[in-house]
Amino acid sequence: MKTYLPLIILTLWALTLSAQVNYPECATAPSQAWATQLRSRMPSLQPADAKKMTPVQIPYQIHLFKKSDSTSVLTLADIYHEIDTVNSFYKNANMFLYECAPPELIFDDSLYNYDTSEESILLSSHYTPNVVNIYFPNTAKTGNTLVCGYSRYPPSADLAVISASCAKNGSTLPHEIGHYFGLMHTHETFAGAELVDGSNCSFAGDQICDTPADPTLDYSNVSISCVYTGTATDGNGAPYMPDVTNIMSYSRKECRNYFSPMQYAVLNATMQNERSYLSCSFGVGIKELQQGLFSVFPNPGSEILNLSLKQEAEGSLFDLYDARGSLILSAPVSKEHRVDTHHLPAGMYFYTLRISGNTYSGKWVKE
Ligand SMILES: [Zn+2]
Repeated sequence: MKTYLPLIILTLWALTLSAQVNYPECATAPSQAWATQLRSRMPSLQPADAKKMTPVQIPYQIHLFKKSDSTSVLTLADIYHEIDTVNSFYKNANMFLYECAPPELIFDDSLYNYDTSEESILLSSHYTPNVVNIYFPNTAKTGNTLVCGYSRYPPSADLAVISASCAKNGSTLPHEIGHYFGLMHTHETFAGAELVDGSNCSFAGDQICDTPADPTLDYSNVSISCVYTGTATDGNGAPYMPDVTNIMSYSRKECRNYFSPMQYAVLNATMQNERSYLSCSFGVGIKELQQGLFSVFPNPGSEILNLSLKQEAEGSLFDLYDARGSLILSAPVSKEHRVDTHHLPAGMYFYTLRISGNTYSGKWVKE
């Protein structure tokens, strides 16, 4: 019996390894507000045709977490390679990620294995306004669950978090950037389960009709040769025929290499609308702009947020969001405006101010 022991140990070890391949997925939370917004926009969208338009540059900044001894599993070269992969997809939506600011290297033994409860540290100390801040910790955890990454639907802070173990697989970064620009999971049931016959495709599932109904793919129902092997049926008893290559699915990471034409249309429309404020020079110059046109003070503040416009402009609107992108308040503003903030919890907030057809955004911190 003893002679078999090494073999048994080896087998158990191999099983453990294969279990680890089944990486956890993403922690991007569904948003009712975004689902509603997307549903109302879909009828006006046409499949994206990249040949017709000039690519729009999307500014980003890399934030790479390292241990205090300056080591990390992931290198900047790995990350640039992955961003090239993102661009190879997003060019079909006329979008091109370009590096707006030098990479920030964060030497921090605690943040190196990141927990989503630490997000406020990222937003307050490691964040460039109006660019896509992409964070690469060694691991990312929410509660007790390890995740590949997460992002947020608009409106929200401009961030995506990708753990090192998923940062080189060619599909997690495009997936999280997809959420940031408005795409939902192909298996989403937040607004109801999509039927195989497509009859409810515009208001159930991912609300996009050229992606087939998806029963939630995983490593047990997609084979290593990227074939769906599941037997699930939909509400009508019809067997699913999901697309195992869709980047917004939970299929095997190495199988995901496809966005549909309507998914590209959503990416492009979200960029042009909810994310239109993204700008490298705007990010750099926001303080000057604020000093010239308006000021928000004190910042950091506590009981009251004061807003002062240089000139009164009719129809000016002030919106305040929490760090998770939920709208806290919306108010028309005159030349001087006071917002009662005594009831708000301490933390980071984002505001947008619309003056004369322009939207300015910034960060406000409550102490
Ligand atoms: Zn996701």
